[in-house]
Amino acid sequence: MKREIYMDYAATTFVKPEVLKEMMPYFTGYFGNPSSVYYISRKTKMAIDKARKCISKVINANKDEIFFTSGGSEADNWAIKGIAMANEKRGKHIITTEIEHHAVINTCNYLEQHGFKITYLPVDKFGMVNLQELDEAITEDTVLVSVMFANNEIGTIEPIKEIGELCKKKGVLFHTDAVQAVGNVPIDVQNMNIDLLSMAAHKFYGPKGMGALYVKRGVKIDSLIHGGSQERGRRAGTENIAGIVGMGKALEIAAQNMNKESKRLIYLRDKLIDGLLNIPDTSLNGHEINRLPGNVNVTFDFADGEIIVMALDDIGICVSTGSACSAGAIEPSHVLTAIGLSENGAKSSIRLTLGAKTTEDDVDYVVKTLGDIVLKLRENNKKWNERMH
Ligand SMILES: *Cc1c(COP(=O)(O)O)cnc(C)c1O
Repeated sequence: MKREIYMDYAATTFVKPEVLKEMMPYFTGYFGNPSSVYYISRKTKMAIDKARKCISKVINANKDEIFFTSGGSEADNWAIKGIAMANEKRGKHIITTEIEHHAVINTCNYLEQHGFKITYLPVDKFGMVNLQELDEAITEDTVLVSVMFANNEIGTIEPIKEIGELCKKKGVLFHTDAVQAVGNVPIDVQNMNIDLLSMAAHKFYGPKGMGALYVKRGVKIDSLIHGGSQERGRRAGTENIAGIVGMGKALEIAAQNMNKESKRLIYLRDKLIDGLLNIPDTSLNGHEINRLPGNVNVTFDFADGEIIVMALDDIGICVSTGSACSAGAIEPSHVLTAIGLSENGAKSSIRLTLGAKTTEDDVDYVVKTLGDIVLKLRENNKKWNERMH
């Protein structure tokens, strides 16, 4: 029988059974619109309140600083457009990085077309933002700095506390796309001086189409979705009650398990990295230490990433490449080119992300299988053969 090994937890996760169980009653029994006054709505209002409290606690925020959204992309769009619009008169300059998720990059591109000035900071070969470069990029006109907490492709964790301190000192707002970090690494928005933070439930075993934006008290932000007075008038639309309940439960479980699970994942991650680096002409992308517990990203010289992914798929192993397929053409990943890889190098890379169901057996099997696949591909590669003979 074909084995099924999922190693793409950074793309999305399954919903944990305990999470689904918590959500179920809110589709059928407890369906009342939280905006209504009668008793069947009180139950849903209370459920939303409980989830909001739970989520706020995990990042050390206040309950009234959490606003539910339709996911990570909406939270990123809202944070950046909302701050840009609300502060337009103060300045029209935003600083971000070259390695952000497209939800941030394309939002910044959009604002650029509408008269805002955007600085895309480069990163070093490990994917780290340089604090001095950030400091120098801040001008009188800067209203927002948006730097991701942890990168979704190479797993690098940015110096968030230091960036927060710098932004505070300079009087500039600080947003972080923490979609990959929430539930995986400790976050304290107060200690880290974070003004806005994006998260998405489906990256920590909650439902898809569900996210939240943390907005620090007192921060001026325009709405993205206009309409009714839900989410204290800042994000309209009848609440996704089951989604909210699921997100709260999923994050509660993630926070409870974080210590133990991250140790387990780091052990598996490092075993996988060591195993893969034993394959000749293989290199690790991203930071060795400041790295998400479940992230592995490697380049196999003389082998095509897309073909590796398809060969693995054939035998039941799910991983991804760093490249995004846009308009039929395979573009090299903007993250891998930003850390200095050539177009060829970027196209010879794959990402393996580990999670709740990953076992040591899976890791051993993937190391062995990948070794065989890469060797076979290289045997058919002219450049490789020329070099070997
Ligand atoms: C997944 C992801 C997003 C997008 O979240 P959605 O819920 O899919 O919209 C944004 N940023 C990062 C870093 C991500 O990993």
